[in-house]
Amino acid sequence: MIYPWQSQQWQQLQSQVREQRLPHALLLTGQTGLGKCDFAIQLAKSLLCKQPQASGEACGECDACLLLQVAPVNDESNNRDSALTHMGTHPDCLWLEPEEADKAIKVDDIRALCAAMSLTSQYGGYKVAVINMADSMNMNAANSLLKTLEEPGANTVLILVSSRPQRLPITVRSRCQRISFYVPVEKLATDWLAQQKIANSELMLRLAHGAPLLAQQLAQADALQPRQLLVEALLGVARNQSLVSHAEGLSKLPAPELLGWLHDWLADVLRLQSSAQAEITNLDYAAELRQLAQQLNMQRVYGLLDEVLNLRRMQTVSLNAQLLWEDLLISWQLLVKRA
Ligand SMILES: [Zn+2]
Repeated sequence: MIYPWQSQQWQQLQSQVREQRLPHALLLTGQTGLGKCDFAIQLAKSLLCKQPQASGEACGECDACLLLQVAPVNDESNNRDSALTHMGTHPDCLWLEPEEADKAIKVDDIRALCAAMSLTSQYGGYKVAVINMADSMNMNAANSLLKTLEEPGANTVLILVSSRPQRLPITVRSRCQRISFYVPVEKLATDWLAQQKIANSELMLRLAHGAPLLAQQLAQADALQPRQLLVEALLGVARNQSLVSHAEGLSKLPAPELLGWLHDWLADVLRLQSSAQAEITNLDYAAELRQLAQQLNMQRVYGLLDEVLNLRRMQTVSLNAQLLWEDLLISWQLLVKRA
């Protein structure tokens, strides 16, 4: 199923398919939580289906569709020595993503993918490969992919999916047709979330920066617990609670996620300092944020926000989490006390 906010991209590609103008390489981009990966799967199925529906979507019943459904991606029947697998058990549909989040896609896996793509299709139709989180390719892997991008085999379609396309070499980007996905208008997103029976959908959508699938994930039990602990620490430190014990609690949680929440919190303070009517992310703490916006020195809030942005950029540096959070909470405490 194509999500309602993807219909324009879907129709564009389907008309290219009908007119036999589909390029050999596509790059699906847009922020996390918009369903790019699901779109890539639907497109792969649509290209391999023997009798697609009028909308272009796969029928779900033909031989090809059944092969694509037999086993989920990354099923144990796939070869686990490599991150390269088939989608279902269809021989003409390949799937590649990092073995673990934050790990690189390796050159050997790209070589294997390119070798498989150069073979004739076993079912006489398209050969399709999806590279999820394509920006995780290391430089050797990206260079290795270039040859296939420059000299693609007949009827091959390579679908790259990336939330951070700026990390892909320009040589790779420039050889793909880019399909961009955007945050849907709020009404479309909240209607969809209501259909999924998501409670508190307006807040979840704000916290997800408008991305409906991320909003759906955040609505799951405990998904917002790290944010809750961070907010308790910020409000607690402002009320003279022990900074060290809050830092200890935060040090056990994933730093990138917490830094993201801290960024959103400070950005909300700044928005409210610019305009009391500003739209904010943390809707559920509007009263607390309004009060902070009145108290805090704007320049100093910017200073702390810069610190957070720098920390978010140094993703791979291993940090002493306890010290990191003590430092940040001390900065926050100074900010609040000087107010
Ligand atoms: Zn089918």
